[in-house]
Amino acid sequence: MGKRICEALNCLIEVLFPDKKFCLYCGKLEEYRFGLCNFCYAEVLKNKMTNKILRQYPLKVSFDEAYSVFRYEKMARDIIIKLKYKEKIELSLVIAYFMKELLDELNLKFDCIVPVPIFKSKKSKRGFNQALAIADNLSRLTFVPVLDCVEKIKNTKSQTLFNDFDRWYNVKEVFKCKKDLTGKTVLLVDDVFTTGATAHYVSCALKECNAKKVIVLTFAS
Ligand SMILES: [Zn+2]
Repeated sequence: MGKRICEALNCLIEVLFPDKKFCLYCGKLEEYRFGLCNFCYAEVLKNKMTNKILRQYPLKVSFDEAYSVFRYEKMARDIIIKLKYKEKIELSLVIAYFMKELLDELNLKFDCIVPVPIFKSKKSKRGFNQALAIADNLSRLTFVPVLDCVEKIKNTKSQTLFNDFDRWYNVKEVFKCKKDLTGKTVLLVDDVFTTGATAHYVSCALKECNAKKVIVLTFAS
């Protein structure tokens, strides 16, 4: 279902059945939690990370902390695939709800939310940057502003084509920050965390612009 139709139907449903909405994942009309019906909500919880802080990297990394809500498997993976490749942009709201819950649980404080950028041609092909869509929704939930201040200045091959080690060379020196971030703690947001290479190099760009601290938050890893 298109986003507009979904929104319009949800408005109508709100009047008729105040507690019910369409699940943003499966479309079922039901009581609603984090944008999901009870079944989908319970299903995705099965992929929750037991240890939310990510610690293992092949190199010394430039970010200060990294967290992920889910393991990249089953429904958590499917949510990302539907968001990215099937243009179900409304799933970015589901992701933002879960991220907000984790931020509250860990009591993390930050001054701005920065999305991991994608290259211009990729953006025009896909129509949107999924990390920015997530950041915008997270900003609405946390009231912390989004700074879309990092640019991807070189196109790179998809990280999925490389093994863990080569991923670090594929995205080296391709990000540039356009804003001074002196004294700021940045929440760097992306859909997936794999080896940490992308997060590391974006974080390098943020620190070159004087960011005080970079906290990485992804939906799945
Ligand atoms: Zn559902």
